[in-house]
Amino acid sequence: MKINKIELFEIHLPYSGGSYELSGGRIYTGFDSVIVCLTTDTGLEGWGESTPFGSNYIAAHARGVRAGIEEIAPHLIGRDPREVDRINDAMDEALTGHNHAKSALDLACWDVFGKSVDLPVFTLLGGSTRNRLPAISSIYAGVPEDMRNRVAEHRAKGFMGHSVKVGALDSEGGPALDAERITASLADRQPGEYFIVDANGGLLPETALRMLRMLPSELDFVLEAPCATWHETLSLRQRCDVPIILDELAQDDGDIAKLVRLDIADGIGLKISKAGGLTRARRHRDICQAAGLTISVQDTVGSTLSAASIFHMGATVPERYLRCVLDPRQMVTVQTGHFEAPIMDGGVVPPSEPGLGVRIDRDLLGSPSTQWS
Ligand SMILES: [Mg+2]
Repeated sequence: MKINKIELFEIHLPYSGGSYELSGGRIYTGFDSVIVCLTTDTGLEGWGESTPFGSNYIAAHARGVRAGIEEIAPHLIGRDPREVDRINDAMDEALTGHNHAKSALDLACWDVFGKSVDLPVFTLLGGSTRNRLPAISSIYAGVPEDMRNRVAEHRAKGFMGHSVKVGALDSEGGPALDAERITASLADRQPGEYFIVDANGGLLPETALRMLRMLPSELDFVLEAPCATWHETLSLRQRCDVPIILDELAQDDGDIAKLVRLDIADGIGLKISKAGGLTRARRHRDICQAAGLTISVQDTVGSTLSAASIFHMGATVPERYLRCVLDPRQMVTVQTGHFEAPIMDGGVVPPSEPGLGVRIDRDLLGSPSTQWS
């Protein structure tokens, strides 16, 4: 089997909640998505997506994804998409870094691989645990009581995990406001609920320590991505006893190895496109399991294909390591296809259809902006 055509589509995904606020005053109202379709000499198609979370979240942006794919795509024509590690070798030879660009192409290879053997991607990744994967809410930073209400709304829908965003600048209220946000968000905590307090790298060791000292000691949560750098995070790690998980800092294979070597965290947010696709995410999953680290399977954001990649990977993580999965479909108002995986009772089970199991809406995508053959 050989790849004989690659098409690239671009689509804007408006944020479903109006505007999303992150630490440092970053506000997002929508996301530019890049979608690729690989066609093989057998006629089978594979689809992939990469949707960065704006341009100032991690070092990735939609125009960079497109430019990266333009560099890589000609080198994949004629290659066998089922040889996913060799595809990744070829992508690395064509372009250094740029995981977000590689992710869309990697997903499309796994999709066509699954279709070629009539198996879902989760089977190719090692097999499904058959558990209902617990979905996590995404509670953007805001007024404490409003955050408490948004947690309650998700609780009413069955969500057991909640990702509470913090990271107020001093001019916005600083550590005291963040402590209020955490206290309010956890105020009605139910047994079995899991809380992530996610600063998206917006705290310094000083502001993080001040925030933690203002909290009641019995609050049960993990602190995600408190600081923007490895040095700051390690400094905080050595001076607090709150479990820490990494997200934005843990991208490449080398980051995961460094995380284990430094013993700097207790888990990771495994975002598929941040890792560079399912091939690398699979490796990160295995390293984390070997090192006793928990995993939250997520993506920066995205629509149907992004959700599918998360759920197929999440299905292969044993229950004691899997904290939660993110359903990015809930964060955007446009869906690029049909994917039979509704959130029910706060969880989701990926469908057993071949490949990623997504039926793409080509009419919605329109004509490709670029193609290679
Ligand atoms: Mg995060």
